Amino acid sequence: MWPDGALWKASMRNQVMNTRRLKHIYGPVPSRRLGRSLGIDLVPYKTCTYDCIYCHLGPTTNKTIKRREYVAIADIIQELEEKLSGSDTFDYISLAGSGEPTLNSGIGDLILKLKSMTRIPVAVLTNGSLLWMKEIQEALMPADLILPSLDAGDSLLFQYTNRPHKDISFEQMINGLAGFSNRYKGEIWLEIFLLAGVTGIRDEVEKINSIIKGIKLSRIQLNTVARPPAKTFATPLSQRQMVSLKSIFSGQVEIISDRNKKYRQRLAASDSTRNDVLSLISRRPCTSSDIARSLGLKVAEALKHLDALILAGKVATVRLSEKTFYAAKESSHALRS
Ligand code: SF4
Repeated sequence: MWPDGALWKASMRNQVMNTRRLKHIYGPVPSRRLGRSLGIDLVPYKTCTYDCIYCHLGPTTNKTIKRREYVAIADIIQELEEKLSGSDTFDYISLAGSGEPTLNSGIGDLILKLKSMTRIPVAVLTNGSLLWMKEIQEALMPADLILPSLDAGDSLLFQYTNRPHKDISFEQMINGLAGFSNRYKGEIWLEIFLLAGVTGIRDEVEKINSIIKGIKLSRIQLNTVARPPAKTFATPLSQRQMVSLKSIFSGQVEIISDRNKKYRQRLAASDSTRNDVLSLISRRPCTSSDIARSLGLKVAEALKHLDALILAGKVATVRLSEKTFYAAKESSHALRS
């Protein structure tokens, strides 16, 4: 029996969606912090206010504080309309991706539009460097969850770790975060990324702790290096060190780690894109950008698949000329079976 008109249209729309790669939306991807998350990339690859030494996306290629509509909001909304009409379910829509999303001057319009289109909660992952700008504070107010970061307790280590744009000072960034937290009505989950021998030592963590006492937070999430960083001297803390440093903080504090068991289980579920990634790197080692370009993925999305393959023991990383290459450990034919 032929489906009726509406069903047939919906089925065709889903088929078109499945064959057409979306440019600005990726996922759903399993996220440590947000469950099953649909990602939206608001800026071109590595357009950021920082150039963090631990960044798993590699060095920042466009360090800027200039805000503009890097990606047209109308294009994102068109892709979202298609994606949300499918049968997938999501825990969050996350504005994140491969740079600093608040650099897109249309982020406020996008959040408002999302709130009118869907009841899925909207989360913004930001480095927090521009929260002193009143227009960004206004733009983020309708979001359900803000996830900023703070990686250092003083200006010296802020410069060393985050390598910010020259027009961003430590004091300005902290004042922005505190000012925003006083106005915002939703939840703020602060990520603190700690590095061995740098920020991940008791004295430095205590400095961070005394700063955040003036900031209204719902959760503190401690993280460390789990993926190849931009600079090889950015090294991880052990789980034991993380647990010890966690005790410095009060309130709801958690260690978020890619080694988390539940996260591993979610990642272990195979999918066809992951097999495509594996197939590609079984022919030659590639960087995450090479993989994203070859398969029409966002870099953040390619990295999620690489995470899963590394945790499954199928892929190894090699550093060469300041770049991280990913290589399959066995032939793709054996791995696909
Ligand atoms: S870690 Fe985030 S804030 Fe730091 S350089 Fe990378 S994208 Fe920018």
